[in-house]
Amino acid sequence: MRIAVLAVQGSFLEHRQKVETLGAQCVELRQRGDLETPFDGLILPGGESTVQGKLLRELGMFEALKDRILQGMPVLATCAGLILLAGKLSNDGSVYFGTLPVTVRRNAYGRQLGSFHIVGELKGVGQVPMTFIRAPYIEDAGEGVEILAQTEGKITAVRYGRQYGMSFHPELDEDLRIHQLFLRECGMDAQGK
Ligand code: GLN
Repeated sequence: MRIAVLAVQGSFLEHRQKVETLGAQCVELRQRGDLETPFDGLILPGGESTVQGKLLRELGMFEALKDRILQGMPVLATCAGLILLAGKLSNDGSVYFGTLPVTVRRNAYGRQLGSFHIVGELKGVGQVPMTFIRAPYIEDAGEGVEILAQTEGKITAVRYGRQYGMSFHPELDEDLRIHQLFLRECGMDAQGK
């Protein structure tokens, strides 16, 4: 099994390490040619969504990745990645892939609460560490969107078909269960194959 990690900016290395620890291979997507390597799932890391969105277009990867997501490629999107997937941003006119029918608020916790760490319940996994860094949250989830986590009344993780969107950064904590869940979605069996 091979997972592609968008590697133009942000916490891609941390995602790569998790995926490899769990026994899958990784391809870092840095330029258009990297899309020729076959892969079974896509990770959109945390970082800065405006920079990532701009680079995706400039490097000629945007349309090809959007098509794959629309065709059902499993996606794990964390923080800035969630912003890239969102169908609408409530405090920003931009839309990037727009494949996940949710309304997302960028930098939603304000300056005071720029970064924080909690342990919270993620549906289907249990109590997991959740690290928020200038995080977005989901203000509204459209039809067919399953809510996986809520933090103080705000939606912080969802699933829509094979797209997983999270406000926090599972790549920055020790716990491997969220990546494990995702690799299973991508088709990895219990033996890690
Ligand atoms: N604030 C960032 C953005 O708007 C997201 C922060 C993150 O990924 N840690 O893109």
